[in-house]
Amino acid sequence: MEIRFDGKRALVTGAGKGIGRAVAVALDKGGAQVVALSRTGEDLEALKKECSDITTVVVDLLDWDGTEVALAGVGPVDLLVNNAGVADNQPFLEVTRTAWDRTFDTNVKAVFHVSQLVARGMRDKGSGGAIVNVSSVASQRALQNHTAYCSSKGALDMLTKVMALELAPYKIRVNSVHPTVVMTPMGRKEWSDPSRAAVLQTRIPMGRFVEEEEVVNCILFLLSNASEMVHGAQLTIDGGLLVN
Ligand code: NDP
Repeated sequence: MEIRFDGKRALVTGAGKGIGRAVAVALDKGGAQVVALSRTGEDLEALKKECSDITTVVVDLLDWDGTEVALAGVGPVDLLVNNAGVADNQPFLEVTRTAWDRTFDTNVKAVFHVSQLVARGMRDKGSGGAIVNVSSVASQRALQNHTAYCSSKGALDMLTKVMALELAPYKIRVNSVHPTVVMTPMGRKEWSDPSRAAVLQTRIPMGRFVEEEEVVNCILFLLSNASEMVHGAQLTIDGGLLVN
């Protein structure tokens, strides 16, 4: 099945690195008019060199006023991937207020904010839309030293469900993907030690971590008309980790 997005404008947050960057490139190849948002300008310049049709937006999603100004300039969006996320991992007893706030500000509050701005535009345009929130298996499984991260992804899952409930009348579909470890810059920071990685991999029935492209394919499916009645779904991409 070939998935095309010709004539659609897609906004991808956190598109400077990792999964978000790979999604932006894939959407560009699929014919979408891509708006790639991130906060490090050099990352987006490199992306622009690879895909010259992509529009880049440098903004920190924690700056709500700056985000509103930036998004007002990109025009109506048909497809949104809320991908930007952070992981500040600390033992429960050591979690700092700064880490807790930064995690929730990025992984939950910024998703709410961007989605509200974009969904209002989708409603006003009247032609529906699709939103994919990038959650994690960490929303459903407690992981050592991941207090803020697991909690934020759990909150994101409920946000996804409420958005699905309230945006359906406007034909805006909302779903989430839940990968296990992907060796992006975020994944490498936590899981590069082979002995540590092996402990988690032995709990994954398929016996390995997930490739970036495998997450991208699931996101493209959820954005496309091929998933027209898939709404409020939580698609795990975990080689079976959560069945264990
Ligand atoms: P990376 O850290 O590799 O990339 C994240 C991107 O998001 C970077 O470009 C980063 O910019 C950007 N970003 C972060 N915060 C902000 C912000 N406030 N404003 C604008 N841009 C921001 O992460 P991954 O690609 O690994 O993760 C992407 C998503 O996938 C996240 O939501 C993550 O939680 C989720 N996920 C990742 C897994 C993994 O193992 N990698 C597993 C499961 C889920 P900059 O570098 O400039 O800060």
